[in-house]
Amino acid sequence: MPEKYDFFSVVQGTLDHAAKVIDMDKDIQLILSQPKNEIMMHFPVRMDDGSYRLMKGYRIQHNNVLGPYKGGIRYHKDVTLDDCKALAFLMTWKCALMRLPFGGAKGGVKFDPNAFSKDEVMRVSRRFVSALGSNIGPEYDVPAPDVGTNADTMNWMMDTYVNVVGSIEKQSSQRIVTGKSISCGGSEGRGKATGQGVVHCIVEWARENDFDLEGSSFFVQGFGNVGSNTAMLLSKLGATLVAAGDHSGYMTNPEGLNPHRLADWVEEHRSIAGYPGGQAVSREEFFATKADIFVPAALENQLGPEEAKVLQAKLVVEGANGPTNPEGERILLERNVAIVPDILANAGGVTVSYFEWVQNKRSEHWELAEVDMQLERRMRTVYHSVRAFAHQHRVPWRVAAYAVALQRLERVYKERGIWP
Ligand code: NAD
Repeated sequence: MPEKYDFFSVVQGTLDHAAKVIDMDKDIQLILSQPKNEIMMHFPVRMDDGSYRLMKGYRIQHNNVLGPYKGGIRYHKDVTLDDCKALAFLMTWKCALMRLPFGGAKGGVKFDPNAFSKDEVMRVSRRFVSALGSNIGPEYDVPAPDVGTNADTMNWMMDTYVNVVGSIEKQSSQRIVTGKSISCGGSEGRGKATGQGVVHCIVEWARENDFDLEGSSFFVQGFGNVGSNTAMLLSKLGATLVAAGDHSGYMTNPEGLNPHRLADWVEEHRSIAGYPGGQAVSREEFFATKADIFVPAALENQLGPEEAKVLQAKLVVEGANGPTNPEGERILLERNVAIVPDILANAGGVTVSYFEWVQNKRSEHWELAEVDMQLERRMRTVYHSVRAFAHQHRVPWRVAAYAVALQRLERVYKERGIWP
């Protein structure tokens, strides 16, 4: 696996490249080159045995010129300030690209949730919200799930927040987080939204390239929310999942892994390890899987030069944020492998989060068909705007996606002016 990696510098590098392509105003580029706020905190959490652990949490608020800060909360042992900064930048570009009235943020707590009991994870979540205090708010900064967090986490966070704001604001504060369970105010379709957006991109690419998804093959790294939903939805279109991997290891089955059964297994066992339907392979063998499409849906910096050289897929659709490093991307592009970049490919999640926020604000509940229809329309429109920019300016799709987003941000800054 590619080792030393400065995710923040990588995102900065793409910002510089895209800013050059659109000849961006230097002052606006300077404003966007750092987050507005970097919040770092320590808070105590009681363990089941009565002892206390001091936890380290972050919230990075990159930009809010388009609307409230928006972005996930990650629970992972490797969470760092700089990675949260990089991920917060991506959220600003993603929301601008999708024309959502949100800015960009990201947060996290540095711990491995798999090594803690459910009650302990709940207390971490509640203490984190209490430590964040007025640094978040339903019209100010609206967190969501990311790696290691899910609808349970969002329900606990919402419950904690509404209980500390006071009775008058209790109901209007439900939209403090998105990605809640449906019974707690979540949206239909939010659980599968990121995977659904990935699949919309794959369908558009297939149409454009006259590629038949029926009978095609794909493989997925990461079998959590994004990976499993992508696999289940893509298999409905006749594509076969031939390999999968997660933090516990990798497996293959050229005849096909059943993504629904694998998802049930992961739900019960917290990883793909021990699933009886596949043969274990090494990480190196996994990346050399013979398949048409690869969906990285785990962490950043997974596809470096070594992986890029052996990858056999024609298409990489980045379900994860930042999975392809610059050297890996250079090799893939040289080898004519198409890449649909993260801020486009995985934007389905924040788009349906926006729908959830709007539904909470209006006290409405939309049918799944309505959510699905609106998501598909937005994903298709934005996919084609990125494609058009890339073709017109002859730049990689990642640079094109950044450029489209930056043009929108630049326009707002120019029209509003920089106060005072
Ligand atoms: P998740 O916690 O549900 O799943 C993460 C998966 O990655 C798990 O299968 C885990 O085992 C695997 N993983 C962790 N470390 C790994 C390692 N070292 N090697 C291989 N696999 C590893 O998280 P998720 O919500 O599915 O997020 C996955 C990616 O998608 C992240 O990059 C996240 O930022 C991005 N993303 C998520 C959403 C969302 O709505 N959840 C939206 C946009 C982007």
